[in-house]
Amino acid sequence: MPRGALLSHPESAVSEQATTPASLIARDRGLLWHPYSPLDGDAPFAVNAAEGTRLSLTAADGTAFEAVDAMSSWWSAIHGYRHPALDRALLDQAGRFSHVMFGGLTHEPAVHLAERLVDLAPEGLAHVFLADSGSISVEVALKLALQYQLGMGRPRRTRFLALRGGYHGDTFAAMGVCDPVDGMHAAFPSVIPQQLFLPRPPAARLVDGELVADAAEVAAWIGILEETVARHRDELAGIVLEPILQGAGGMYIYAPAALAAARRVASDNGLLLICDEIATGFGRTGTLFAVEWAAVVPDIMCVGKSLTGGYLTLAAMLCSAAVADVVTASPLRSLLHGPTFMANPLACAVAGASLELLASAGWQGQVARVGEGLAAALAPAAGLASVRDVRTLGAVGVVELSGPVDVPAVTRAALEHGVWVRPFRNLVYTMPPYVSTAEDIAAIGAGIHAAVARVHG
Ligand SMILES: *Cc1c(COP(=O)(O)O)cnc(C)c1O
Repeated sequence: MPRGALLSHPESAVSEQATTPASLIARDRGLLWHPYSPLDGDAPFAVNAAEGTRLSLTAADGTAFEAVDAMSSWWSAIHGYRHPALDRALLDQAGRFSHVMFGGLTHEPAVHLAERLVDLAPEGLAHVFLADSGSISVEVALKLALQYQLGMGRPRRTRFLALRGGYHGDTFAAMGVCDPVDGMHAAFPSVIPQQLFLPRPPAARLVDGELVADAAEVAAWIGILEETVARHRDELAGIVLEPILQGAGGMYIYAPAALAAARRVASDNGLLLICDEIATGFGRTGTLFAVEWAAVVPDIMCVGKSLTGGYLTLAAMLCSAAVADVVTASPLRSLLHGPTFMANPLACAVAGASLELLASAGWQGQVARVGEGLAAALAPAAGLASVRDVRTLGAVGVVELSGPVDVPAVTRAALEHGVWVRPFRNLVYTMPPYVSTAEDIAAIGAGIHAAVARVHG
């Protein structure tokens, strides 16, 4: 069929009928790369529909599944799929203009979004750079920190201190501050910038709404932090970390006192504190931003993932007036970054609507309900022989196994119980949409339990 025929009949089902889900998967294989997967890796599932908290999927063998979404499409679809308010924001903006360059031009969606972000962010974060993905926002944050140190007359401060177990994205500078062993350093040894790393801060556990950690372990960790910064301060531009919850590096919850110490030590030594809230921002950990667990205000903060409610790729870097002022007063004056699709109006319009929705839907209540549901629904998994730990924080639930997860087998078993999960390493975890019902959460808990029990015992 000529291409034009499809394009001129966008409402027709012709394109749907031209292929079955199984043949779609066959066409995908060997053609498209999927995240961190070989071209001839495990077959993906075809998505037939996504609505609310439900995914309609088909496997390569033709089996169809109706599944509760336990992943929010990697932390992003917090309001569920096809939300009417987000659909409307997107279509309304498409009816005006979909994209214009941001060099020399501005528009309502970008300005509105930046105003809302500054309103919501910890007090003191006053300026916004809109980036096209989380990784790029981290690149921009690191670049800004380097430009700040340059502006302060400290050109030798070019390195960063990061945490073991951290994850900050896949571009080169971002990879450099990811965990040096579990990250991708080994594949690109001479290309990735060599940064400094602290051990993971001591683990914390949620007890009666408080994050509790071992005080002696925390004191020892702070000692290492202070000593490392004292030894390297003249070469360090900043400290980079995911506040409270390390996501892709291991779904690890740590002591707020460690974050507070990082803030204090950074300030005392002329380092910027860069908090990567790309996974944790907008309520996921139970506070609007995870830094609030330690009442910390970073100098630079990155947000992404759920920023557009999972509709489009967009991230933002926010910084304090003090940081921006130094750059503006420096000979460079500008922040040296400017992607082609910077501040894409469609993405900004949906992000603005998603932030409105967070407030109007009452995210605190939603996240609290999901969190209580997850704690109850995942608790039985702690009794399985293969399970080492079960933990929750906000709308995040983690089942940690003693050994690596058989990812294809657990994924398939969970789907047979009506749940979509995407485990990694030794972790089967969930961060469901905030709009998940009590039944959805119970189904997620039961599905994860059944899948782990069946595959790993
Ligand atoms: C996902 C993630 C990133 C990278 O974001 P992309 O949009 O995938 O580039 C960076 N930091 C953290 C904490 C993340 O979870």
